[in-house]
Amino acid sequence: MSLVDNNTATPPLTVAKFGGTSVADFTAMSRSAAIIKHSPDTRVVLISACSGVTNLLVELANGISEPDRRQQLLQRLGEIHYGVIKELRSSEPVSSAVNVLLDSVSTLAAQAAKQPNVKLTDQLVSHGELLSTHLFTQILKEMGVDATRFDIRDIMRTDSQFGKAIPQPEDIRQLATARLQPLLKNQVVVSQGFIGSDSQGETTTLGRGGSDYSAALVAEAVNATTLEIWTDVPGMYTTDPRIAPAAKPIKEISFSEASEMANFGAKILHPSTLVPAIRQQIPVFIGSSKEPEQGGTWIRESVNEAPLFRALALRCNQTMVTLTSLNMFHAYGFLAEVFRILAEHKISVDLITTSEVSVSLTLDQTDTGGGAPTLPEAAVEALDKLCRVDVEQGLCLVALIGNQMSSTKGSAKRVFNTLEDYNLRMICYGASPHNLCFLVKEQDARSVIQELHQNIFE
Ligand code: ADP
Ligand code: ASP
Ligand code: MG
Repeated sequence: MSLVDNNTATPPLTVAKFGGTSVADFTAMSRSAAIIKHSPDTRVVLISACSGVTNLLVELANGISEPDRRQQLLQRLGEIHYGVIKELRSSEPVSSAVNVLLDSVSTLAAQAAKQPNVKLTDQLVSHGELLSTHLFTQILKEMGVDATRFDIRDIMRTDSQFGKAIPQPEDIRQLATARLQPLLKNQVVVSQGFIGSDSQGETTTLGRGGSDYSAALVAEAVNATTLEIWTDVPGMYTTDPRIAPAAKPIKEISFSEASEMANFGAKILHPSTLVPAIRQQIPVFIGSSKEPEQGGTWIRESVNEAPLFRALALRCNQTMVTLTSLNMFHAYGFLAEVFRILAEHKISVDLITTSEVSVSLTLDQTDTGGGAPTLPEAAVEALDKLCRVDVEQGLCLVALIGNQMSSTKGSAKRVFNTLEDYNLRMICYGASPHNLCFLVKEQDARSVIQELHQNIFE
C-alpha cells in the first residue's frame, strides 16, 4: 500500500509511529510491520510500549512495597514480552536483551518500593519502549526488511523535567543529522517514542501519550515529507467513536483545526504533536494499523473544505478556580495581581472568563499525567489575602471545533438549544474562530457529547 500525499515535495521520506495497540502482541506487531514493508518511503519508525505496559511500569514506579503484588506485575510484564518472543523464528539475541531489561525493571521497582522519585520513574517507565523496539525490529527483520534498532536517547535531547520533559528541537536536529540521518540510506530505523535524555544523559519522558510528539520531533529533525500516526482507529473522527459510535472519520483537516482537537483532549493525538509538523509544514496521516485499507485522515496546512462545525473534543479532570472580590468592581490592577501570584507559583492557566467582580479559570493539566490539577497551598494562601477562592473539580471541558464559528450567525444558538437541559459553565466563545468550549459536570459529559454530536453531525 502506498500513501502518496500530492502536496509533499520530493525526495519522499516518511516517519511512522505505531501506538501501543498497534504493537500489543505478535499479531499486531506483524500487521504493523507489513505496513512498513509495503511503504518504501518509511525510513524511521517510532513505536510505543506494548499496550498496557506503561501502566504496569507506572504502578511499579509509584512504589509497591508488597513483594507479592510487585512479583505479579513483573510476571505480567514477562508474559507480554515472552508472548511475542515465542512466535519469533529466531529468538536469540532478542530474548537475552529482553531478559536484561526485565531484570533491570525488577531492580528499579525494588528501589522505587523503598523510595519512589521522578527520575527513577522515568528510568523505569522507559523500559516499555526499550523492550518493544527489540521485539519489533526482529519481526521486521524476519519479514525481510533491513531494519536496525536505534536508541532514541542518542538524539531526543530534552530538559530535565522528569515526567514531562521539554524537547530541545535545535539540539535534536543537530544530533539527528550526525547520528540518525546516515543510517537512513540503507536501513529502516526502529526507535522508541516517549523517551528522551537530558544533557547529563539521564533518561526522561515526554509525558503520557508522548510518542506522537516524539515522532513529530524526529520528522522535523530529519526533514521528513510525511508523518504517519498508526493507531487503532482509521483516522480522526468527528468525536471519540468510543463515546459516540455514529462518529465519522474526517478525510482531511487543517493544522489549526486538528491542533485545537489535540489541545482540547482528543486522545488520538498528544497535544504537542502538531507543533513540529506545523513548524516544518509536514503533512500528517492518521490511520488504523488493523485496517490500513480503510485509509484515514490527512492533516495539512490548507484543505478543500472548512465546514462551520468540524468535530467535538472532550477533556475531563478539569479544575475550575473562581476568584471573587468586591474590590474588583470598577477597579484596576486586580487581575494583574491575580496573575502575578499565579505566575509566581508557576501555575499555567487554560481557560478564563470574567465578570465584574469575579474571574473563573481552569488550571492547565498538561503536567498532571491526566489527573485533575490542584492549586498549591502557598498559592491559595496568597490568593486568599486578595479575594475569595473557590475550587471545583469533577468537571469536563467540551470543545466544539470548526471554522468562522464566532462570525457565523446562529452557530451558538444551535449548540445551546441542543443543551438546554444541562448546566453549562465557563463558556468561552469568540477568542478563536475555531472553537466554542464550556465546562459540564463529569456525569453529564458523555450525554452532552452524544446529544451535540447527534444534532450537529448526524
Ligand atoms: P495509541 O495507543 O495508538 O496512541 P490512543 O489510545 O492514544 O492510541 O488514541 C486512539 C484513541 O483515541 C481511539 O481509540 C479513540 O478512542 C480516541 N479518540 C479520542 N478522540 C478521537 C477522535 N476525535 N477521533 C478518533 N479517535 C479519538
Ligand atoms: N507508552 C507511553 C504511554 O503509554 C507513550 C505512548 O504510548 O505514547 O503513555
Ligand atoms: Mg496515544
